[in-house]
Amino acid sequence: MKYKTLKGLQDILAPDIPVWQHIEAVARDIFRTYGYQEIRLPILESTEIFTRSIGETSDIVEKEMYTFQDKGGRSVTLRPEGTASFVRAYVEHHLYNNPAPQKFYYMGPMFRYERPQAYRYRQFYQIGAEAMGIEDPNLDAEIISLLSAILRRIGLEGLNFEITSIGCKACRPGYREALKNYLRDKLDGFCGDCRRRYDLNPLRILDCKVPECISSRQGSPPVLDYLCAGCREHFDGLKYNLDLLKVPHTINPNLVRGLDYYTKTAFEVTSESLGSQKAVAAGGRYDGLVDEFGGPPTPGIGFALGMERIVPLIKGSVKTSEGPDLFICPLGDEASVKALVLAEQLRTHGVRIEANLESSSIRSQMRKADRIGARNVLVLGEDEIRKGEVVVKDMTTGTETRTPIDIQELARLIREKK
Ligand code: ATP
Ligand code: MG
Repeated sequence: MKYKTLKGLQDILAPDIPVWQHIEAVARDIFRTYGYQEIRLPILESTEIFTRSIGETSDIVEKEMYTFQDKGGRSVTLRPEGTASFVRAYVEHHLYNNPAPQKFYYMGPMFRYERPQAYRYRQFYQIGAEAMGIEDPNLDAEIISLLSAILRRIGLEGLNFEITSIGCKACRPGYREALKNYLRDKLDGFCGDCRRRYDLNPLRILDCKVPECISSRQGSPPVLDYLCAGCREHFDGLKYNLDLLKVPHTINPNLVRGLDYYTKTAFEVTSESLGSQKAVAAGGRYDGLVDEFGGPPTPGIGFALGMERIVPLIKGSVKTSEGPDLFICPLGDEASVKALVLAEQLRTHGVRIEANLESSSIRSQMRKADRIGARNVLVLGEDEIRKGEVVVKDMTTGTETRTPIDIQELARLIREKK
C-alpha cells in the first residue's frame, strides 16, 4: 500500500457514518428548539486570532497548532477550536447589533498537533454552540441544559457534569498572587514549561498534564475560594438554576480550562467509560473576548463536544445498516434497461431502490440482494415484461405478491411493507 492517512488522522466510513449522522441530526433538531442558528466558519484563520484569545502560554498555542506561512507570506493556522473563529466572525459582521441573546452552532473539524492515542486525534470533529449578549447565569444554565439534552437524546448515559467558576478580571489577580505564593517554594517539582509559566501565566500550571506537576500542585488554593462577590453570586445563580432544571451536576474546584479567554463559569462533561481521555464536551463563559477582538464589551458562553469520543460510546445502540426497500433483478439486456427506468420512477415516491444494472444469473443476483440486506426482491425477465406483471418477494417472511408493473401500485406495495 503506497498511500496512507497522516498520523492522527482517520477516514470515517460505513458502519460509523450512520452514528455520526444520528448525532448531527439530533444536535440540529435540539438547536432548532433552542433558537440556535448554524454558522459556517473557515477552517483556516490568521494565526493571531488564536494566539490572542487562547493565550500564548496555553498548550494549544505553544505546542499544538498547525501553523504555516501561505504563499503570500502570512502566518495562518488550521483552527484548533471554534470559539476564537466564531468571535472573529461575530465582530466582523457586527452581529452584536442584533437583539441579545444571539445563539449559534457549528459542526466541523479542528486540528491539534497532539500525540495521537485512543480518542485523541490530530483532526477531530466538534459540534459547538455559542450564546452571546447575556451575562445572567440563566443563560449559563440554559446552554448547559441544552448540552445535556443533546447528550441524553443521542443515548449517552453515565455522564458527569462538572462545573466551577474561574473568576473574572476583578478577582483573578488576587487569585494569581495567592497561587504564586503557594507555588513559590515548590517550583523545583515542576516541568520546565510550568516553571516558565509561573511568571507568565501561573494559572496554566493548574492545567499541566505532566504527572510530577499534577502531584506537585496538590493542595494549591482553589480558585473558588477567591471569587469576588459578583462571581460568587453568579456561580450560586448557576447552581440554583441547574437544580431547578434538574441537570445533575457536581462542583469540581480543580477544573481549569486550557484556554485563557474563559471567565466565571467553566464546565466539563466526562464519561467514566473513556479511560484517560474522558472529557466528551467542555465549555465556559468568555465575557472579555468580544472586547479583546475590537467589538463592544459583550458577554458570551459556549461549549464544544467531541464527536470521536461520543461515537464509540453509542455505536452499539444506533441502527447502522439499512438495505434497500426493493432490489430489482433483471434477466437479460432488455430487462436491465427496463430496471434502470423502473428504479428511477419508483425513487420519486421516496422508496429506496437498488437495481442490478448489469444482467447476471438469478442465483448471483439473489445472493447479492441477501448480502446488501434488501427487504424485497423483484425479478424482471422477458416473461414479466411481456405480461406486464411481476412478483415481489418479501425477504423476511418469504411471502410473494403478484402485481402489475404500475409505478403507483408498486410504490404503494413497497411502502406498505416498510
Ligand atoms: P483534553 O483535556 O482531553 O485535551 P481539551 O480541554 O483540550 O480536552 P477542549 O479544547 O475543551 O478539549 O475541546 C472540547 C472537546 O473536544 C473535548 O472535551 C473533547 O471531547 C474534544 N477534543 C479535544 N481535543 C481532542 C482531540 N485531540 N481528539 C479528539 N477529541 C478532542
Ligand atoms: Mg487538549
